[in-house]
Formats: sequence, structure tokens, C-alpha cells
Amino acid sequence: MSVTVRFAPSPTGRIHVGNLRTALFNWLYAKRHGGRFILRLDDTDKARSTEAFAEGIIADLAWIGIRPDAVFRQSERFDRYEAAARKLIENKRLYPAFESPEELERRRKRQMGRGLPPVYDRAALKLSDQEVAALEAEGRTPHWRFLLGNFETDPFQPRTATVTFEDLCRGEQSVDLAAVSDPVLRRADGAWLYTLPSVVDDIDMGVTHVIRGEDHVTNAGVQIDIFHALGADAPVFAHHNLLADTSGQGLSKRLGALSVAGLREAGYEPEAVAAIAVLIGTSLPVEPIEGLDDLASRFDLSVVSRAPARFDEAELRGLNMKTLARADYSQVSDRLAALGVGGGEAFWLAVRGNLEVLREAADWWQIVTGPVQPVIEDEALAADALRLLPPEPWDLETWGQWTGAVKEASGKGGKALFHPLRMAITARPSGPELRQLLPLIGRTRISDRLSGRPA
Ligand code: GLU
Repeated sequence: MSVTVRFAPSPTGRIHVGNLRTALFNWLYAKRHGGRFILRLDDTDKARSTEAFAEGIIADLAWIGIRPDAVFRQSERFDRYEAAARKLIENKRLYPAFESPEELERRRKRQMGRGLPPVYDRAALKLSDQEVAALEAEGRTPHWRFLLGNFETDPFQPRTATVTFEDLCRGEQSVDLAAVSDPVLRRADGAWLYTLPSVVDDIDMGVTHVIRGEDHVTNAGVQIDIFHALGADAPVFAHHNLLADTSGQGLSKRLGALSVAGLREAGYEPEAVAAIAVLIGTSLPVEPIEGLDDLASRFDLSVVSRAPARFDEAELRGLNMKTLARADYSQVSDRLAALGVGGGEAFWLAVRGNLEVLREAADWWQIVTGPVQPVIEDEALAADALRLLPPEPWDLETWGQWTGAVKEASGKGGKALFHPLRMAITARPSGPELRQLLPLIGRTRISDRLSGRPA
């Protein structure tokens, strides 16, 4: 069986790192199994969905390295949902209901007061065709409910009806359809809720695996019943743990800072964001990756933990640093050029281990090219260092030879030697190895800085 997966965000906002986790789980699963990845935009909510958000989501996925094999919009497929609804009505699995939200709420409260589960009592199913016609004649429009298959012959005598499925993340799952209300598939204003369109699309698009967050487990029970009512087999399901922040709170799509776009603007590398999104909340170590192919070769749905995955931006920063520290010059040269950073590979190798985000390379380039206002902490040492500065050309050996001579002349070693030299040369207490920076800064600037002159 060839694998087809889909990632199905609603374009009512940009995606955050939690949504990205779902997208990547699908993408990696497809990669591992030579399958297809569909991006399905769940835009049936016309008021809140926008084309700009849809484009934004596509751009976010592209930045991380996901290029869908196909893109579908639910708003272009309403005729398919109409057809499925007609079929369900013919088979007596979809029925009109006229209760107002207030009426339903009153009923729910009454049931709970009596210690009963607040499951819809199917009162609308008792309406005769004439009663329905009369209500419609009054100008009332119904919403539409799916009749769950949780009864033998009499829908008013529901019995335990357990839908069991093997979940690739969670193992065997059971949902009792008698504990769930007949879901509303279509609202009175004609709008489709998510449940039916998703099933119709999964059937039409030949989706074999539905990989999504565990907030959809109960939906899976209901949707399996709908697949069967439409004469189709249900796909395989995998419901993964959700992402929480460090305090254990779930992430909301509106949390701008953790949007994929926000992380990109903050300067994080796509490899680091992908690694964090996938590897936290699994049994695998959170470590740098080479790219999505590398991630696909490590990842399998069975490594996903049951506990929530904790997203910590400090961990992302650490991972970003490690990702940059191992990046080759060829991987970053274009972006360095765009930042106005020169120095070629030698400069990159000097600074790559000191960057939380790439744009900090520009700060070090500024320190190389100047002007830097030197900090002279030890006048005598600076004078010795200046006097002993060797002639150019300089290479990676120069620093050791020079500081060896300064050590001998000044009688100073260790921190008393290196700290004042670093402050004089870079005006910063820490940073890349001076052995590597020295030839890039060059003799003229070093001489000036040791003399206390900005250069
Ligand atoms: N649009 C739904 C969501 O974002 C899709 C769920 C699914 O994958 O079936 O929750």
C-alpha cells in the first residue's frame, strides 16, 4: 500500500511550532515510506480564513523544507460535501435538528443535574416529515446531525458501541460512541463543520494515514463511523502528544512569538526549529540534525512519548548554537554576504562556535574590521605586546608565537595575560579564538588597538 498523508491546518492564523510538529510528523512519515504529502487547507470557516494566511502557511512549510505534493482547499470542494451529505440523508444517517443553542444548553444542564451524561437525546429524530416541513415553513433552518451507529434497531436505545483502532502513537484506542452526542456536521447557516469534510477529503484523496494531535482521538471514533457510513475503510490513525510550554500550558495558535514565522524572524535556523519540533517529547535525544532526510532516518511514530512535549526556547537557542557551530561555510556564505559579512571561510570557522543566531556574525565582523574602542586594562602588558608584535604575513601560528614572547617578557601568564589582550583587541571579555581572529584583524589595527586608539 503506498502511503498518502495530509497536514490540514485552518488558514485562520499562521502555524506555530506545535502545528509544525504535526506537519513534520506527516512529512517524515511520508519520506520514510516513499509516500505523498498533501497540504489540505481547512478553510470552511469563510469568515476567519484568509488567502494571506494560506500563503503564509505554505511559506512557513517551505522554509522548514516541506514541499507538498499537492495543495487542496476545502472551500473549493463544497459540492463533494453536499454529495456525501445527500448520501447520508438517503441512508438515514443525517437528520435535521432545530434546537437553538440556548435550548441545547438548558437540556444539557438538566441532564447533568440528574447525573446523566450530557449526550444529545435525539429529540429531533422524532420529528415527522410534516413537522420538519412545518418548521421550515416558519422560516426555521435546521442544522444537521450525524446519527452515530451506537444502537441495534432503535436509536433511542443506544448501547455501548466501542470503536477500537490501533493508533500508531498510542497503541490500541477505544471510543464509546454511546458516550458522544450525534455530531453536528452542518450548521443552520449552511457552514460545514470540520468533521465530515475531513472524512470526505480523506476518502477522495486516498489518505492512508491520518497523523494529528491527540486532541482528535474522540473525533477519530466518530470519523471512523462516518467512513463506514460512506462505504469506505478508515485510514490508519496516529495521534501524537501535544506541545506545552515550560509551565505546562498548551500553545495557542495566536502565540505570535512561537509562530514559525516568529521563530524565523528571531533568526533561528530551520534545521534547529525542525529538530526541536520533532525530537522533544520523544525517546530520541534532542540534538542537531543535518536536514529533514537525516531526521526522517531517525524518526518513527513509535518513539513519540505519551506525556506532553515541553517546548523551551532556551533549548532551541542551545540547539541553534550547535547547529551553527557545525555548519560549513558553503551552507551560510550567501546569508553572510547578505549581512555584509566578509572574511570568507576563515572568518566563518573563527566565529561559528560563538553564535546563538547567524546575524551575530555581523557583530564579530564589525570587531574584525573596526572601528573598535579598545579597553586597555594593563598598560605595561599592552606596551610589551605592541613591541613584540611580529611582522606580517600572519597565520594560525602567529598568536601562539606572539603571546609566548609576551609571556616571557612580561612574566604574566594565564588569565592575567590573555584577558587584557582580548579586551585590548576586541573590547569584549569573551568570544572566538584570537588565534583565528588575529590574522583577519591584521597588524595595523592590532597595533592601533594596543596603543589605545580606536581602529
Ligand atoms: N483542521 C484540523 C485541525 O487543525 C485538522 C485535523 C485533522 O488533521 O484531521 O485541527
